[in-house]
Amino acid sequence: MSEKTKPNLNWAELEFGYIKTDFNIRYHYKNGAWSQGELAKEETVNLHIAAQCLHYAQAAFEGLKAFETKDKRIVVFRPDQNAKRMQTTCERLFIPDISEEMFLDAVQKVVKANEHFVPPYGTGASLYIRPFVVGTGVRVGVGPADEYDFIVFVTPVGPYYKGGFKSVEALVVEKFDRAAPLGVGHIKAGGNYAAGLSGDQYGKSKGFPVVLYLDSKEHKYIDEFGTSNFISIKGDTYLTPKSDSILASITNDSLGIIAVDMGLKYERRPVLITELDGLDEVGAVGTAAIITPISKIHHGDKVYVFGDGENPGQNLTKLYSSLRGIQYGECEDKHNWLMEIK
Ligand SMILES: *Cc1c(COP(=O)(O)O)cnc(C)c1O
Repeated sequence: MSEKTKPNLNWAELEFGYIKTDFNIRYHYKNGAWSQGELAKEETVNLHIAAQCLHYAQAAFEGLKAFETKDKRIVVFRPDQNAKRMQTTCERLFIPDISEEMFLDAVQKVVKANEHFVPPYGTGASLYIRPFVVGTGVRVGVGPADEYDFIVFVTPVGPYYKGGFKSVEALVVEKFDRAAPLGVGHIKAGGNYAAGLSGDQYGKSKGFPVVLYLDSKEHKYIDEFGTSNFISIKGDTYLTPKSDSILASITNDSLGIIAVDMGLKYERRPVLITELDGLDEVGAVGTAAIITPISKIHHGDKVYVFGDGENPGQNLTKLYSSLRGIQYGECEDKHNWLMEIK
């Protein structure tokens, strides 16, 4: 247990935002090698005005969470998967490799150093972990940087659902695409999220908190929501789209495994937008909320309705509580998804 006492925060009411903690951990890449990680107290980075990341976006990130379990352990959910995904991202953006070992060590050390910021069990809150890597080397002509920073910071975040598990309505955006075929939609490249802002804001201006993108080549198949994967229940099947431009969500992967444990069938294949008509339950999934149930999807003049058009369906509700139960140590972690902070 932590020697320091937990700060006096209103854990259950925290937003998904930044709260200062004690330490972040930093690694610097220079002359072909990464430095040892160093815990830092400062919250800023000092960058050259011609740093590569400021102009040409060699910038990648990850997002994962630590939880205090029912029996007072501190655990991180599937960090090995985030490490692997960051390696895929780095490879595509020509950023030097960050080994899985280095990534996991960074997570261990930074969470340990901020142990008292892990929200108490029972509040529904968690410690959000944000690893990121940027090209810091000086670059005027386009090309990869010769120096990089890999930094991991943490910040406590409140429960996503403050008023209970609730459905929202989504809008299909066709005015903008999120990701090009053979582009970078499948990786967590910083630039993707700048490119997605127009679509997100367009949806918000029409009153929709979530937007759904179609495949950018034909606008026929479902890709994913702005920053979360598309999952659905069709009869006794967990159905999620297959596409080269979808970000491989670890939440989606985990829910698919739990679905099979629950006795559902699992299917991952291209899903036509017109198939929305036959779906019983739809959810937007990612680390922040686990599942945001979608009650209706608006596409032009057409409205697709799922379940009673208002409330989360029973399968998504069960999937949500099962995953949450594993993260808080209330259910058996039979797939070995939790890494304990020691
Ligand atoms: C991060 C992200 C997700 C969710 O991934 P998780 O690993 O489940 O958090 C989904 N879509 C996009 C575009 C993302 O950036």
